[in-house]
Amino acid sequence: MSDDETYVLYLAVMLTGLKFTRFVGGSASDAFKMVFGSITFDIGDGKGPNPTDGNCSTTSGTISCNNAPDIGTAVHEMFHSFDKRYQELSSGDGDLLASNYYPYEWVADGNYQSGGYKCSDDNCLAHPPDYPGYDSSEAFANLGENWVLGTSGIDPEHFGFADNIAGQNLNNWMNWMMPTFLSNMGLGLR
Ligand SMILES: [Zn+2]
Repeated sequence: MSDDETYVLYLAVMLTGLKFTRFVGGSASDAFKMVFGSITFDIGDGKGPNPTDGNCSTTSGTISCNNAPDIGTAVHEMFHSFDKRYQELSSGDGDLLASNYYPYEWVADGNYQSGGYKCSDDNCLAHPPDYPGYDSSEAFANLGENWVLGTSGIDPEHFGFADNIAGQNLNNWMNWMMPTFLSNMGLGLR
């Protein structure tokens, strides 16, 4: 990876951690470690998916990409990681992913797939509705991507929520659910 590509991943980690400081306290890096554990990035070393299936493949502790991801994709993949880490840590919650709580009726609703976001294309939705296998986990990762980057000051013309009911509902849902997710994961809330 080039220095620039490494910087993008570092920025994605710090911005994501910063978003979680309001829930778990500490510094951005402390919050990231608490919520995500340690994440290994495998970029361009052949551990990513078949390139026809997409760029990145993510488990709770590893993000493997064929090519260095852009900032949107990097944060999106972190929410796939969060989704699986929730499943691992929330032992009292069956085998559910965090994204299993994502409102079912929103998954197939264009107002929520893209209409609630400032931009409706790949620039702010790493895996848009036409992505193969689009489901609640993709909707959840797109939501996390815009939840983090919409308040980061990075590309405010594109990342974040549209000024409409769907946009407000998406943002509110994540803010409302996150304390429950973190509590179920046994992570201290400030
Ligand atoms: Zn995805």
